[in-house]
Amino acid sequence: MKRLPIFIVSLAALFNSLSGYCWGPTGHDVVAAIAENHLTEKTKERLAELLDGRSIVYYSSWMDSIQNSPYWEAGYNQTKTWHYANVDNGHTYQTMKKNDNGDVVVALERLTSELTNNYENLTDSVRSDYVKMIVHMVGDMHCPMHAGRLSDLGGNRTKVRWFSRNTNLHSVWDSKIVESARNWSYSEWRDQLDRTDAEFKATVMQGNFEQWFTETVAGAAKIYDYVESMGENPNLSYQFVYDFSPLLEDRMLVGGYRLAYVLNSIFDPESVQPIK
Ligand SMILES: [Zn+2]
Repeated sequence: MKRLPIFIVSLAALFNSLSGYCWGPTGHDVVAAIAENHLTEKTKERLAELLDGRSIVYYSSWMDSIQNSPYWEAGYNQTKTWHYANVDNGHTYQTMKKNDNGDVVVALERLTSELTNNYENLTDSVRSDYVKMIVHMVGDMHCPMHAGRLSDLGGNRTKVRWFSRNTNLHSVWDSKIVESARNWSYSEWRDQLDRTDAEFKATVMQGNFEQWFTETVAGAAKIYDYVESMGENPNLSYQFVYDFSPLLEDRMLVGGYRLAYVLNSIFDPESVQPIK
């Protein structure tokens, strides 16, 4: 029995680290790679300077990885809640219980504002970190279970089976559905998804963070309704992958276009209509 508290602590640590890992590396890489296709030359140059020549794909999961690095205790633990916003059934972002430590909408608004309006007062290191976080958070914002309910901690407490193995709904949308839908690398996903026409791009590359997040809340609601209609501890498998592939593809594609829009707005504002 003496070992129990340690076990509980380690489980809690595991839970905390998993809860912020939506999309998993492949999903974040897909979003960043699609965005890369739509950056202006000027934005690409500015990013190359800030990221020492590395790409935004390279850093797309950096914000998850710092949770296990010296950065964490050095102050970056304040970013822990910036990966999501949990909206309970019947609520909107406006009416939901706000997290005092911030959420994905607040954090994106703050960091883009800093890079847009306070750039001269930031060090290169801070500018670089903010870019890496924006790249990650725009991806998270488009992941349905990062807009999941507070009552089940964004799907972490909704028990499901995935091809008969016990897991939870958050984990399904973390990486399982991406891996099961296609056996593609991030660049194959990018090449297959980024084939839409100019009108579609123009439609989705506008708006603001709260509007975009609200779309993800609607996607999450569809998933909850579907899963709840299947009863206790449902077994999600091929039918779920088939039924939700359109949502999965839409979220990664639209997230990629919007990430390009955000980065172009910051680094090449004359190329876009500013975010309202
Ligand atoms: Zn995350």
